[in-house]
Amino acid sequence: MQVLRQWRLFQRYSRYGNYVALDSDCLFCKIINGDIPAQIVFRNENVVAFNDISPQAPTHVLIVPTLHVENAAGLAKMSPTLTADLFVAAGEIAATNGLTGYRTVFNTGAEAGQSVFHAHLHLLGGRGLAWPPG
Ligand code: AMP
Ligand code: ZN
Repeated sequence: MQVLRQWRLFQRYSRYGNYVALDSDCLFCKIINGDIPAQIVFRNENVVAFNDISPQAPTHVLIVPTLHVENAAGLAKMSPTLTADLFVAAGEIAATNGLTGYRTVFNTGAEAGQSVFHAHLHLLGGRGLAWPPG
């Protein structure tokens, strides 16, 4: 079943040069695949969301596409609708958590604090969030 799904994803996105369905060396691909445990809070065909292992706020969820792409710009170039799916999921998770305000962040590049190179949207909420960020 997983192989069939991967093949469908490959057919859908293979015109995008650096796209791979899942990368066996990637931490978040392993979480998506169930090879590494995580507290999953949301899942559909396109999106998986799980609690950050080192939460920076009472709600700190990572929302990831179920295919491997390095960063937000790459994801948006490959699929605007999949990018939008992450934000729709963020809204639903925020509502489930009773958040009236929240922050969504993509870090891109090590200089900006990206440590896992599988695009992921941070959803932070449940406390006051200062601006500008650190
Ligand atoms: P970034 O620094 O923007 O790339 O975000 C990566 C995030 O992944 C960090 O906030 C980490 O705390 C988080 N993280 C690392 N390993 C895990 C894991 N096994 N499960 C959940 N979150 C993780
Ligand atoms: Zn990955």
